[in-house]
Amino acid sequence: MKRKPRQLTDKEFDVLVIGGGIYGAFIAWDAVLRGLSVAMIEKGDFGHATSANSLKIIHGGLRCLQQGDILRMRRLQNEQQAFIKIAPHLVRPIPFIIPTYNRSLYSSESFKIAFKLRKLLSRSCVTSLNNQQDLLHGHFLSREEMLYVFPKIPDANLTGSAVFYDCLLHHPERLLLSVLHSAVNQGAEISNYIDVASVLLKKDRATGVRAIDLLSKNEFDIKARMVVNATGPWINRIIQLIDGHPVYFPMARGINLVIDHQIIKDYAIGMPDTDSHGIKNLLQKKSRLFFIIPWHCYSLIGSHYIPCKQINDDCSVTESEINQFLTIINKASGLGLKRENVLWAYSGYVSIATNKSGRINRTQKKQIFDHRKTDHIDGIISVFGMKYTEARYKAQKVVDLVFKKLGRTSPPCLTAVTPVHGGDMTDMDSYIAEKNTYLSSRLNSEEIHYLISNYGTRYPEILRYLPAGRQNSPLDPMDIAEIYHSADQEMAVKLQDVMFRRTLRPFVSEKRFCYRAYGDSMARILGWDNHRQQCEIQGLKDILGRRSNYETDFS
Ligand SMILES: Cc1cc2nc3c(=O)[nH]c(=O)nc-3n(C[C@H](O)[C@H](O)[C@H](O)COP(=O)(O)OP(=O)(O)OC[C@H]3O[C@@H](n4cnc5c(N)ncnc54)[C@H](O)[C@@H]3O)c2cc1C
Repeated sequence: MKRKPRQLTDKEFDVLVIGGGIYGAFIAWDAVLRGLSVAMIEKGDFGHATSANSLKIIHGGLRCLQQGDILRMRRLQNEQQAFIKIAPHLVRPIPFIIPTYNRSLYSSESFKIAFKLRKLLSRSCVTSLNNQQDLLHGHFLSREEMLYVFPKIPDANLTGSAVFYDCLLHHPERLLLSVLHSAVNQGAEISNYIDVASVLLKKDRATGVRAIDLLSKNEFDIKARMVVNATGPWINRIIQLIDGHPVYFPMARGINLVIDHQIIKDYAIGMPDTDSHGIKNLLQKKSRLFFIIPWHCYSLIGSHYIPCKQINDDCSVTESEINQFLTIINKASGLGLKRENVLWAYSGYVSIATNKSGRINRTQKKQIFDHRKTDHIDGIISVFGMKYTEARYKAQKVVDLVFKKLGRTSPPCLTAVTPVHGGDMTDMDSYIAEKNTYLSSRLNSEEIHYLISNYGTRYPEILRYLPAGRQNSPLDPMDIAEIYHSADQEMAVKLQDVMFRRTLRPFVSEKRFCYRAYGDSMARILGWDNHRQQCEIQGLKDILGRRSNYETDFS
């Protein structure tokens, strides 16, 4: 994957996708797999926005059943299975524990019905995966067992807990990059750091965009028969450029915290977000759950939603928001977490709705818009994504519509059954065991696990960049290989592209303090002068300062 913006001007594409989040990535891959010529542009780095800020759950839809939404449950379940099939190295089942309370939405009775219904409705889900059976299994812990597992949980009305399986995507940014690799392998032309200056219109039809390369400042036209606006929370900015009617989604900022230790191992737990009204809210069905999830050697806690009116480019979390969420967490869990325990706080925009009882829900409104119908402008479609889990499915619907509008018959969509770049293995553990003998002479077992659980069968592409001999650097050879690979094969052009999205190593180890060494390597590869290198380091420090408690480490 090389950054070649000029190739975007070479021809008229069938489809131009604006937005390189997970929705744009799946649309580009699906369209090119079905034989369309595809261009995709992203104004920042790929996946830097909402897609990098999720809680990393690939939902199986069990909780939709409690809301009586059987269709959505089936859809999420199918999508979960598809993710396991196409990216088995990145997606893993994990048991979730939800405390049950008398007379509430989260009562053991409602879970019993949900478990039964799910089993019944899932009989036709034939799957070849061994561990798939686990995903349908649900059982209960007694009140005593639950208090043993989590002694500080509020116990008034507690009856025990329900246990079921969902999936965790341990590195969403890597999945997105794998989808992009897959699209590029099929011939898609993609580029990051390209913004839209205007939408090209001929009479009442969009024919492409006037684009601006944010790195070189060059402007150029990208021509396309269909334009897809997959810009996430920025959807209305593109709609404004065609003088269209803005689509209205009431928005909230969802906040997640990374805690500096594993609170619980091996399973995730849901806690009632009781806000200031205590457990009463839960009984009145006004409360949402937040989750504590083991993630590498840390814990993720989220999401806490704060309604907002404006969409900003900077999505940093304020100190008072962190403290507000910590108060809720501590009240619900008795964990006594302190500000120093919060390693990192991040947020992204989601669309919400409040029901009659005041409970915040994620909106399920229409999410695909044909602007011929809404604004009498043909050749442009907008899509607004609600869940990472649904990105593949929604992309399929968008590409179906693209074919319809191009007046062409669509071949079947293949993204639910085609492994992403690196995903062509049946089971990660047996794949690691198989490769272990061969790799163990060069790498230790942790490195082998890291490589394969991130790059799957494409791990040799990173090994190619392993430096020979000892390096005069605090970084390991594997870090250096990943930096080279990111810059050479994955369009990383800024220090933050590498440290936040191409590799997990700075954040799952003490390597995060080595940002200067990362900067040195990037400077060598990309030929940065001293001034550029300092700017990159400053840019990184600004982000770290806004999102984390690393300030004390900046010298
Ligand atoms: C706190 C939180 C927790 C969540 N947890 C989960 C979860 O656990 N499971 C789940 O399934 N879902 C979850 N979600 C939802 C999920 O993250 C989103 O639905 C999904 O990431 C949306 O992807 P997207 O591609 O539509 O948007 P984005 O990732 O925001 O991508 C849109 C892209 O368009 C680009 N763009 C904008 N304007 C332009 C322009 N003019 N030119 C070029 N590019 C442009 C942006 O830079 C951006 O990269 C969560 C969301 C939040 C906020």
